Amino acid sequence: MRIAMIGTGYVGLVSGTCLADFGHHVTCVDKDSAKIEGLLAGRMPIWEPGLEGLVKANVDRGRLQFTCHLGKALEGAEAVFIAVGTPSRRGDGHADLSFVFAAVEELAGLLKSPIVVVTKSTVPVGTGDKIAALLKEKGAPEGVSVASNPEFLREGAAIADFKHPDRILVGAEDDKARACLAEIYRPLFLNRAPMLFTGRRTAELTKYAANAFLATKISFINEMADLCEAVDADVQDLARGIGLDNRIGPKFLHAGPGYGGSCFPKDTLALLKTAEEAGIRQRIVSTVVEVNDRRKEAMADRVKAALGGSVEGKRIAVLGLTFKPNTDDMRDAPSIPLINGLLDGGANVVAFDPVGREQAEKVLPKIEYAASAEEAADGAEAIVIVTEWDEFRALDLDDIAKRMRGTALVDLRNVYNPDEAHEAGLVHFGVGRGRID
Ligand code: NAD
Repeated sequence: MRIAMIGTGYVGLVSGTCLADFGHHVTCVDKDSAKIEGLLAGRMPIWEPGLEGLVKANVDRGRLQFTCHLGKALEGAEAVFIAVGTPSRRGDGHADLSFVFAAVEELAGLLKSPIVVVTKSTVPVGTGDKIAALLKEKGAPEGVSVASNPEFLREGAAIADFKHPDRILVGAEDDKARACLAEIYRPLFLNRAPMLFTGRRTAELTKYAANAFLATKISFINEMADLCEAVDADVQDLARGIGLDNRIGPKFLHAGPGYGGSCFPKDTLALLKTAEEAGIRQRIVSTVVEVNDRRKEAMADRVKAALGGSVEGKRIAVLGLTFKPNTDDMRDAPSIPLINGLLDGGANVVAFDPVGREQAEKVLPKIEYAASAEEAADGAEAIVIVTEWDEFRALDLDDIAKRMRGTALVDLRNVYNPDEAHEAGLVHFGVGRGRID
């Protein structure tokens, strides 16, 4: 099939490339000409494991193309996906749909045949109805279908997630759209990926419900971690103890500095706005948001406590800046409020991230950047592990301890056991691992 993909970011580029890898002919289009020029020259605009090779292979086979011109991407296309950003609207937490509607308006003027328009971006319930109305109003041809196909991939494991999804969710209101999406995803039936067809509005809301539920699991275990610290229990063992129960499951039960990233913070807020407009209280999700916001703000205090109450004039090494490992994405990363809190307290912060530096420099311009974890450790009073990159999991703690001035290892991802840190002469401050005095 011929497919156009509007938006060549984390979701659009990965989805477009994987669809091309299934054998479809995909043209990815983006307004950002630097991104497209880079891709045409073989440079990836994002850091995602395995992506560069997959893009190259499919470009070489003539199945994947890039352009800034939507009209060109639409030539012969049977489906067009919208995968543009839907960030939080400044000030009120609503999903900002301006990129989606701008794309739809442009699309309406260019469509010549009754194509299937598929929303892959995360959009509030009812957006598909508005897209259908806008297409009609702006003169799109009769018979254009609008479907919702929310994306569930995780950055850092995006290709594997796209190719082996837990489910494919399609919200459609007509058979043509359902048949078109079934054909697009037919290669995945071999992987036995369940395809779930729902109404369009239900599919839109399901995406928000999924993210809100995962965010709830994270906030739940973080509050359990606080309780563990107060009553001298271990949240790691507790998480295992509950996670082995099939009804609960082990994932998203890692206590840490609070969730961040490009989805959970904005999607939980947007869900609350949807509920507010519908006049339905969502007490659980609103508490989850509040718990997480407070937690992220409180992380700098943990570092201060580990250093006897003040970080004034002290050199603090931060390991890991991106919101999670294996991505360069800094959107809403917990490292940002943590570092700003340390800077407000008068600390000198030196940070190291394996791939996030370029993105991090845009949001954290006032810190020093080291070239390695070891270099960051030189002369530091404390080391703070914020993102659990693999290369931070087996640091030579003896070497790190020798390089440091102080002894505090603030391990916000519980990467190390207190005993191994102790053996290296460090004092371990984990999350939810017994009493914090
Ligand atoms: P992104 O910011 O990385 O990419 C969006 C791209 O769209 C940008 O390159 C931008 O230049 C382009 N764009 C905007 N308007 C355009 C237009 N009119 N024409 C062509 N290109 C246009 O965003 P993302 O992280 O890929 O997220 C996209 C959507 O997918 C969001 O709704 C997000 O919530 C959802 N989502 C993201 C993830 C994730 O992990 N990033 C996972 C699931 C769902």
